[in-house]
Amino acid sequence: MTYGPAHLLPGEQIRITTNPDTEPFWQAAKEHKLTACQCGECDKFRMPPTAVCPHCGSREKKWPALPGTATVFSYVVCNKNPKNGEDYVYVPVVVDLDGAPGARLNANVTGVDADDVHIGMKVSVVWTDIQDNWVLPNFQKA
Ligand SMILES: [Zn+2]
Repeated sequence: MTYGPAHLLPGEQIRITTNPDTEPFWQAAKEHKLTACQCGECDKFRMPPTAVCPHCGSREKKWPALPGTATVFSYVVCNKNPKNGEDYVYVPVVVDLDGAPGARLNANVTGVDADDVHIGMKVSVVWTDIQDNWVLPNFQKA
C-alpha cells in the first residue's frame, strides 16, 4: 500500500494545555525557537519538562536554544483524521532533538511520502499555528 504525502494535522484541530513547567517551551515556540528543558544543576535534558530533575533532584531549569534539527526515533502512519474519520494521511513521530541528548519530542512529519518515513531520517522543525495563538513544532524531511 502506498499512502502518499504525509500531511500535518490541521492546526485548528490542536489545543494544548500548559503549566509552569512546560510554558517556557511553548513561549519559545511562539517565537519559532526550539528549546528543551535542561537541568540547571546536572545539565541533563528532560522532556516533557517536569518540576524536579529525575537525575539529581534539582528544581533549576535552563531553556537553551536548539538548532531545530532532529532524527526520527519512531513513527507510525495514520490514514484517518482523528477529528472526523475522513481519509487523511499523517505521520506522528518521536524525534531525538539535536543539541539536547536524551530529549525527545512528539510531532508530525511532512515534506515526504508517508511510505518513505523511516527511523534515523533527518528532519528540521516547521512551525504550525494552533488554537489559542500557540505554535506547535512539527518537522519536515531535512
Ligand atoms: Zn539534574
